[in-house]
Amino acid sequence: ATGTAPRRMSPAGAGSPSQRDARWGDTSSYGARKKHRVFCHLPNGDWALCTVITTSGDESVLKLSEGKVLRLKTESLEAANPEILDGVDDLMQLSYLSEPSVLYNLQYRYSQDLIYTKAGPVLVAVNPFKKVPLYGNEYIAAYRNKTKDSPHVYAIADSALREMKRDEVNQSIIISGESGAGKTETAKIAMQYLASLGGGGGIEYEILQTNPILEAFGNAKTLRNDNSSRFGKLIEIHFSTIGRICGAMIQTFGERSYHIFYQLCAGAPASLRDKLSLKKVDEYKYLKQSCCYSIAGVDDAQMFRTVTEAMNIVHISKEDQDNVFAMVSAVLWLGDVSFTVIDNENHVEIVVDEAAEIVARLLGCSTEDLNLALSKRHMKVNNENIVQKLTLSQAIDTRDALAKSLYASLFEWLVEQINKSLSVGKRRTGRSISILDIYGFESFDRNSFEQFCINYANERLQQHFNRHLFKLEQEEYVEDGIDWAKVEFEDNQNCLNLFEKKPLGLLSLLDEESTFPNATDLTFANKLKQHLNNNSCFRGERGKAFAVRHYAGEVAYDTSGFLEKNRDLLHMDSIQLLAKCKSALPQIFASKMLSQSDNPIPAPYRSSAADSQKLSVAMKFKGQLFQLMQRLESTTPHFIRCIKPNNLQLPAIYEQGLVLQQLKCCGVLEVVRISRSGYPTRMTHQKFARRYGFLLLEDVASQDPLSVSVAILHQFNILPEMYQVGYTKLFFRTGQIGKLEDTRNRTL
Ligand code: ADP
Ligand code: MG
Repeated sequence: ATGTAPRRMSPAGAGSPSQRDARWGDTSSYGARKKHRVFCHLPNGDWALCTVITTSGDESVLKLSEGKVLRLKTESLEAANPEILDGVDDLMQLSYLSEPSVLYNLQYRYSQDLIYTKAGPVLVAVNPFKKVPLYGNEYIAAYRNKTKDSPHVYAIADSALREMKRDEVNQSIIISGESGAGKTETAKIAMQYLASLGGGGGIEYEILQTNPILEAFGNAKTLRNDNSSRFGKLIEIHFSTIGRICGAMIQTFGERSYHIFYQLCAGAPASLRDKLSLKKVDEYKYLKQSCCYSIAGVDDAQMFRTVTEAMNIVHISKEDQDNVFAMVSAVLWLGDVSFTVIDNENHVEIVVDEAAEIVARLLGCSTEDLNLALSKRHMKVNNENIVQKLTLSQAIDTRDALAKSLYASLFEWLVEQINKSLSVGKRRTGRSISILDIYGFESFDRNSFEQFCINYANERLQQHFNRHLFKLEQEEYVEDGIDWAKVEFEDNQNCLNLFEKKPLGLLSLLDEESTFPNATDLTFANKLKQHLNNNSCFRGERGKAFAVRHYAGEVAYDTSGFLEKNRDLLHMDSIQLLAKCKSALPQIFASKMLSQSDNPIPAPYRSSAADSQKLSVAMKFKGQLFQLMQRLESTTPHFIRCIKPNNLQLPAIYEQGLVLQQLKCCGVLEVVRISRSGYPTRMTHQKFARRYGFLLLEDVASQDPLSVSVAILHQFNILPEMYQVGYTKLFFRTGQIGKLEDTRNRTL
């Protein structure tokens, strides 16, 4: 058996003619038969379930559920599943796996608060945007005791636990979806289950308390989600040999941002308020930009107390907490540091006012040090030290880059402290379950560097997903002795090569261009077109744009800002400022930044600007991604795909178009498609013979189930390429059982 998925030739790919046949059987004689349920396209683009009244010529007359009658082209209709399959809890049980069938089934369940559905090995979770009565101790007990087996996050967490113990293999729960789809909530629900079953030592409580801390420092209110995580998170929960939780480790990636600003300003006690010279939220320039100071239903002051309490629980000392909040305050005040122009070349100095003095005091440096770092840049050109004075806009960028990286360092440091506190240490003998909460594939009207990185990561995760799926399928075919060479799967290796190939891949070319002083976004775009135009996953577009064919669809990227975002903007002068500071944290941050720069050459020998030696943002991202993939490779994965049914964050609204697009992006339709290209419907010989045997014309009462099954297949002229006979089961292509069911129903 190979470890990799072979390239697909797609004899039965979605939309190909042969696939249409397989889905439809034969349109005229089956799909549009009288009284049949079919899906039709409404003028608004949605699919609607309706019944065929009559068919004549190439048109059908249809009745919608609310009684309305329509006349449509028969070939525009999609077969619907028989009523007995309405709301099945695994999409794979559907005989027709078309887009409308999948959409309808999820909607059918969603309207009854059945928010969880399986798609083969994947759990699909549709965000209810309201409290649903599916959680808590009673439910946990029911899944533990197996008195409930409907699809649920608890069921996934339970399989992870069981498989970890049974196979002695680490497990992972990979949660993806777009912003607001419910990933973070789902991760917490999984953690609750694990904490409940593996608890007892008390450490599970500490692990749960990392959530409010990370959310305070790592989440922000956005248009899409009031509590949007601006970072990806992997939490590895360790179990002892007897199955008790004995520690945890958290790894984060990506950008981060800021409930904590609001919570600190609203909730700090008077003494801390004085010490940190806190103002009201609406008095800080950085916070004014958003002009949204509160979130409906959230009490920032109360949240601040929850966060400090959680920090106590994970053993972050009072002193460290004060240091943390001092940095938060310093970041806020940095935004208020202003500049005056000192000459006619627009060079600047900082204004030594309240803001500058407070920042200097909180960091533990002088205002002169601060001024130097924000108004001048030291460079080495041709082995000579030169000092460049900064212009107003350069100085503002430098200030903002410092604020951003101070905050990023603070977040990293906090995670490190939490990890120390939860560390499994030398007792690390047992197994682990990792929960990954990571942003999904994104495709907007305008896509930039951020989407480029996110989608690249998702491309890697998708490969992991495909390979796992392929392996499972293959195992089942091999076990049942069928010819699995006929089952082909698609791999996205080509797209990954487009990103990763050296020296002519997207990432390498981006890095190369980022180091050229005269390069622009346009020269970068041209370089891509020059070198990559032959790649089937790449398409050059006009001007500064290019498109990538991702597994979830084609995305056009606008290279504006790519080079700048890829260069780490923090300059050596800022790092040196931090290194000089007397407060505890800035020094730690500085040494960490220095050790992270990818610079094999000792400082005195560097030839160009020191900054250009630092690892680019894309390369750092790739490094983190590879670390993540390495961790996941050694685990048995369990997949949860979260779906956001509407953009209003409201319950009971199911927008088909929005859901469909996410099903594609999450790879759910891909699972369906992969299964469709194989033999998704399986039935044991016994069951098949019992269900359809009576339809046989000849008497087979004395024969074994396998012979009966084969006789049925022959009598009904099921084409040989539509099924495979295994040792214990029959394997069917999509839609075949529908035909038999139909005959059975008419006979009964
Ligand atoms: P994501 O992490 O994918 O951006 P979140 O997990 O933060 O999304 O969920 C967004 C919001 O959706 C939550 O704040 C909550 O209001 C709601 N939500 C998500 N999952 C559930 C659930 N299982 N039950 C109830 N509400 C949920
Ligand atoms: Mg989140």
